Amino acid sequence: MTDRPDVVIVGSGAGGAAAAWALTGAGLRVLLLEAGPRFDPASDYPMTQPDWERHLFPAPPGSRAEILYGDLGALDPVDAGLQSFNAVTPRQAPGPERLASHGYAHVRGVGGSTLHYVGEAHRLHPGSFRLMRDHGAGTDWPLTHDDLAPYYERAERLIGVAGPDTQTGRPRTMPFPQAAHPLNPAARRLVEAGARLGLPFEANSRAVLSEPMNGRPPCNYCGQCSRGCPLGDKGSADVTFLRLAEVTGRLTVLTGAEVTRIETGPGGRISAVHVVRGGVATRQETPILVLAAGAVQTPRLLLASAGAELPEGVANGSGQVGRNFMETLGWLGTALVPGLTDSHKGLPADAVSWAENAPDGVPGAIGGCRYTSAVLESGLSGPASYATRLVPGHGAGFQARLRTVFGSALSVGAIAAVLPDDRSRVTLHPERRDAFGVPLPVVSSVLTENSLTLLHHMAARGRALLQEAGGGELLEQVSSWDRFAATHVFGTARMGDDSATSVTDAHGRSHDHGNLWIADASLFPSSGGGEGPSLTIHALALRAGERIAAGG
Ligand SMILES: Cc1cc2nc3c(=O)[nH]c(=O)nc-3n(C[C@H](O)[C@H](O)[C@H](O)COP(=O)(O)OP(=O)(O)OC[C@H]3O[C@@H](n4cnc5c(N)ncnc54)[C@H](O)[C@@H]3O)c2cc1C
Ligand code: SF4
Repeated sequence: MTDRPDVVIVGSGAGGAAAAWALTGAGLRVLLLEAGPRFDPASDYPMTQPDWERHLFPAPPGSRAEILYGDLGALDPVDAGLQSFNAVTPRQAPGPERLASHGYAHVRGVGGSTLHYVGEAHRLHPGSFRLMRDHGAGTDWPLTHDDLAPYYERAERLIGVAGPDTQTGRPRTMPFPQAAHPLNPAARRLVEAGARLGLPFEANSRAVLSEPMNGRPPCNYCGQCSRGCPLGDKGSADVTFLRLAEVTGRLTVLTGAEVTRIETGPGGRISAVHVVRGGVATRQETPILVLAAGAVQTPRLLLASAGAELPEGVANGSGQVGRNFMETLGWLGTALVPGLTDSHKGLPADAVSWAENAPDGVPGAIGGCRYTSAVLESGLSGPASYATRLVPGHGAGFQARLRTVFGSALSVGAIAAVLPDDRSRVTLHPERRDAFGVPLPVVSSVLTENSLTLLHHMAARGRALLQEAGGGELLEQVSSWDRFAATHVFGTARMGDDSATSVTDAHGRSHDHGNLWIADASLFPSSGGGEGPSLTIHALALRAGERIAAGG
């Protein structure tokens, strides 16, 4: 397919892009195979169009994968206080089981899901690396926060992360590369309310420039990061790691290149990948393969590459490929706050509370959570969202009410830890296949007692915050109790020291195949306490890239 690369990478998202930058920087020639298209921030994202509010992140053909859902867990009416609703679509009797109404949120494209992400840039809490040792639950990482710290720093510098002088619960050896962003009116309300409730909020660390850097301008606070940033100040992988890696002249990115199979050769080494591009099937040999297709597609590809010699799939001697899937456990609530204005302006997720983020941060549960100011994350950024979610009715009275309340919504978002569970996993559908003949992935993910405890806790704290901030009745609640909706997914090819219980070693190298590396969210042994995972994915990929360049 292309002249003898030193390394082939599958997937150009948070992990693949960072690995490409590390490897090309070390002088290696890299071929990056990306199933999706390349987006042009200046013309493809809806913020440049007058009817922007009607459009979410663009979804041209080939930019979303087909995913099937298996067991998502039954709903116990005793927890029905967590049911999702809004003022326009009120509560109805809960169904018997959770629905995948939003499903696994992802983008196939150059930059992967970081194109769509909000851009919170978080290091994991140091305690999250040792859940089993300290709390007897989940599993431990085969490395520590300190092992990752130099790679966290490298990623923060390269992206231009903006953050506060100090960050609660997180040791830092250097200040954030850029100054924190100013807080918007909604966040300032939460700061005041949180202080009174003993739940302090502070400026969030954001992969969004507050000062110009490398030809990228600072943020203009349009507030639409997850619709795609038209300026390029958001640190998505396309305008950061990949742009710099392409400058080296050692990176070739092929878009629309769907990897359908991994081929193994003598000595258990990976010999090639099979690729379909523009309807043409080819075979690409490689000395080293880095898999970075994300926590659903990476295990799918490994399992779908089973053959006579490896009936359980590639890299699956432990039987752990596809297991330990962890979703995003979230709660979001909204109320109107009389007197609050312009809550739709500013940067999404600009304020965060880390007060309960440690693994023992929430009473009665293992694994912490964090809270953010979430008006813009929840999409309450224009009149159409108010009209379809918060303000029921029609006619002149409705219009007058809409004009009065617009800009006064306050939302609290919360995300918590998920512990690995045997029932939660990615498997292959026995019959259904995609257009290339590859079995479709089936995601099963259930809520444990621990998850329910965390959800109830976050809902109670979130409601208390809204009330303390002067909010009226709760007008919208969205929770993982009845809706599986995963923006952060982890764990399906986890790293570990023991080859019987993990898929890779502490650097992401397969226990079974010496020239196969994994560099994406699949590696996470545990989820952390609600942090955005991308910075940790970058750090793991940079560490793996450095090790590969040093000879493995
Ligand atoms: C709306 C939203 C908001 C988010 N907000 C945040 C946030 O604020 N902070 C944060 O840290 N994280 C956030 N995330 C999560 C973050 O985007 C992901 O965790 C991260 O991008 C995952 O990185 P990855 O490398 O594992 O996979 P991805 O970034 O998803 O990249 C995988 C890539 O592999 C490609 N691929 C898959 N299969 C194949 C194949 N067979 N052949 C070739 N290519 C293939 C895909 O097309 C894709 O480009 C958010 C996500 C969403 C959707
Ligand atoms: S708020 Fe800033 S980072 Fe987000 S889309 Fe707008 S300009 Fe980009």
